Amino acid sequence: MTALASGSVHEMAFSVFDHPENKSHEQIVFCEDRTVGLKALIAIHDTTLGPALGGTRMWRYETEAEALTDVLRLSAGMTQKNAVAGLDLGGGKAVIVADARRDKTPALFHAFARFVDRLNGAYITAEDVGVTLADMDLVSNVTDHVTGTSKKGLGDPSPFTAWGVFKGIEAAARHRLGISSIGGLTVAIQGVGHVGGPVARHLAEAGASLIVTDIHDSHLQPVVEATGARAVNPADIHKVEADVFAPCALGGILNAQSIPELKAAVVAGAANNQLLEAGDGERLRRRGILYAPDYVINAGGVISLGDSRYQSDPEAMRNRVAQIQDTLSKIFKRADDEGLSPAVIADRMAEERIASARD
Ligand code: NAD
Repeated sequence: MTALASGSVHEMAFSVFDHPENKSHEQIVFCEDRTVGLKALIAIHDTTLGPALGGTRMWRYETEAEALTDVLRLSAGMTQKNAVAGLDLGGGKAVIVADARRDKTPALFHAFARFVDRLNGAYITAEDVGVTLADMDLVSNVTDHVTGTSKKGLGDPSPFTAWGVFKGIEAAARHRLGISSIGGLTVAIQGVGHVGGPVARHLAEAGASLIVTDIHDSHLQPVVEATGARAVNPADIHKVEADVFAPCALGGILNAQSIPELKAAVVAGAANNQLLEAGDGERLRRRGILYAPDYVINAGGVISLGDSRYQSDPEAMRNRVAQIQDTLSKIFKRADDEGLSPAVIADRMAEERIASARD
């Protein structure tokens, strides 16, 4: 199938079945309701392990081709993330083509929810960039196939993501530096928002020294005051003398330019898509830097949304999220044994779990 990018037929056409990011996706749904201004895409990548769980992103995509690329890439990433997190869930994602600051209406979310409902539970939605718990409450007025609402689950997943990142930093430091406690280590945190802020607080409570940065002073100052962290310029954070570098802001931060400048022995943080290119995992390994694969260490949020066994008990859920430590330790050991980067091993573990479920 070939769809046309917005505008005239003379504009660039994009292919769907032959799209470079189409990784054997099971189903792609194009949703439109002109009465409420809804344009959305839902991609179900793989349901071998269970229904496809993945959030809904609201973003001002310049073209429909961009929205398609994003939903294909993000949904395939959710399959890997859910598989390695040990969830009995497949991977999916939705994107709504709209401006989160201007275009939100209850009618738009209700219309979106009707499309989710039509999939009869093959896709379960939740929050993502640009979409809040209040928006998902609107979705839950129409469909049961939603989690992370005020009635279902434990609410905002970010504190669980932060807890998992903190536990993951402990596991990575233990493996690479041979220490039993992170008290006394120095951790450099890039971005102290919903995840990086609470990660800083957990680390400070455990006795780590912190170096932090953020492009927003209103995010930075409360963390500096609460933790005694030293603040540096955003451009310098990956270059500072530290034991651990924790990217908690942007994707693509680990690349051919930044990796040679790193001084930390461990990279472990919340940001999605930290490696700019697949080969950057190997680049880190050759420098002797231990990398905690992003989608493994930042899975606490999706675990809190997707593991229904503990959804009435926050403490039990924190213990479940802390199992990220065991997963990372297995990945690090296998990476050492096979002489490969942890990023490659994580991908293999996801593929193996799905393949064995297919047998
Ligand atoms: P957020 O927007 O609350 O926080 C990001 C912070 O980074 C903000 O304070 C922002 O000002 C800062 N920032 C942006 N650009 C920066 C730069 N160039 N230098 C320094 N700081 C910069 O987002 P979040 O929810 O905390 O998520 C952080 C990262 O973790 C993202 O990559 C996100 O995709 C990923 N993640 C989040 C969750 C979750 O549960 N929220 C789950 C998995 C992954």
